[in-house]
Amino acid sequence: MRHSMTVCIGAALACAAAAAQIPNSLKPFVKVDAPAVVMDHVRVIDGTGAPARDDQTIVIENGKIDYAGPQTSDQPIPAGARVLDMTGRTVYPGLVMMHEHLFYPLPDRGPGLLPLYGEMADSAPRLYLAAGVTAARTAGSVEPYTDISVKQLIDAGKIPGPKLFLTSPYLEGSPSIGPQLHTLTGPADATRLVNYWAAEGMTSFKAYMHITPQELKAAIDAAHAHGLKITGHLCAVGFREAASLGIDNLEHGLVVDTEFTPGKQEGVCPGQRQGEEALAKLDVEGPRIQGTIHDLIAHHVAITSTLAIFESFAPNLPPMSEEMRVRPSLLPDAWGSFMTTRAMIAERAAQGPQPALGARMLRMEMQFERDFAKQGGLLMAGCDPTGYGGVLAGFGDQRELELLVQAGFTPEQAIHVATENGATWLGETDRFGTIAAGKDADLVVVTGNPAKNIADVEKVDAVFKDGVGYDPEKLIASVRGRMGLR
Ligand SMILES: [Zn+2]
Repeated sequence: MRHSMTVCIGAALACAAAAAQIPNSLKPFVKVDAPAVVMDHVRVIDGTGAPARDDQTIVIENGKIDYAGPQTSDQPIPAGARVLDMTGRTVYPGLVMMHEHLFYPLPDRGPGLLPLYGEMADSAPRLYLAAGVTAARTAGSVEPYTDISVKQLIDAGKIPGPKLFLTSPYLEGSPSIGPQLHTLTGPADATRLVNYWAAEGMTSFKAYMHITPQELKAAIDAAHAHGLKITGHLCAVGFREAASLGIDNLEHGLVVDTEFTPGKQEGVCPGQRQGEEALAKLDVEGPRIQGTIHDLIAHHVAITSTLAIFESFAPNLPPMSEEMRVRPSLLPDAWGSFMTTRAMIAERAAQGPQPALGARMLRMEMQFERDFAKQGGLLMAGCDPTGYGGVLAGFGDQRELELLVQAGFTPEQAIHVATENGATWLGETDRFGTIAAGKDADLVVVTGNPAKNIADVEKVDAVFKDGVGYDPEKLIASVRGRMGLR
């Protein structure tokens, strides 16, 4: 490599920042700030699913990837570039996560209190970015105008956070699962809401558990009329029915598909528990579930994997070491409620008539996702930071990668699911999702080698978004103890 005009050839990311082009509001979170950066001797996992490649070079200029490939002697170094020796480090594309939220369950859900979710407008965007998430599709909103403002603030460089792709408030039927959700009154209401939120700037839609087939059909048609897409976490409508109605994406996968529940009535949600008990009797490799997989693929319906949230409903999972990682980010009350629920799940599983149904569901879901992807289905990933608080923005997305590997994907395939596949669904593959010349410099730098040990995705050294290298520790420290509060 030809070293022409380098400002600083330093040990990894430690050398001092050069020319500052970024807004003052972002400076406290930035580790690498230079108009051009050269990453030398770096291992690259490019997001396409291809095996990791050692000793590569990446050149970043003006927020874009200029060059990505083997070391060459004639690759010019841009003027003013910072050259970073990345020996021992791995780079993969910024994660494109598809089931994210800016809200989190509020702690202290005592008897008679309403189930409420608080908007984490400060902590969620920072924790996402710190974990390497540079693009996130929210998958349902409880404070749509806050979500819109947060996106605008991020895009204007006023606050740190990922590139947000916003989804409307939930399109929920009756009964709605909580007071923060509107209850649809019929198909015309579904059309009205889709038109309204499209006009407000939402770029995707989320149908929810009690939406009826007629309402869902109306919402799909209205979204498509705007050239926008719609996903669903469904219950009253089964997967094959939703596919035939034209839905673009289904959240969570097999575990929430109610089509296998005996006696399920048309347009009625039979209840999550009944659905899981019916599923537990089936074989993922059997004709019924395989038939669903074929049908979804034939209708080009993507699936969003959310293994981290399912894992949190299995007894004694994830391991306590994972929980201790998130503890400092949580409001102490939120940590308390979350630990109480975790203990309750373990206790019930130990005493229940069907021990560890949650663990069985997790295994079946993993098998389903592997089969769906192997047969050509578009599998994407997200963390769904809801439930009882056991999954946090960003941390949960890293855990999702680990669980995809447990499910049987190679680390490179897991990263592909969590990068290029999301970009494909969003129609953004020209901008991001893989490491290639011409794309946005959205890159995660980790210490170690996730291709050998996927848990190394937790060792984030820097997260580049549009060529600016953020410091994960500073982002996390800036909202310490705030998750669950703001
Ligand atoms: Zn969700």
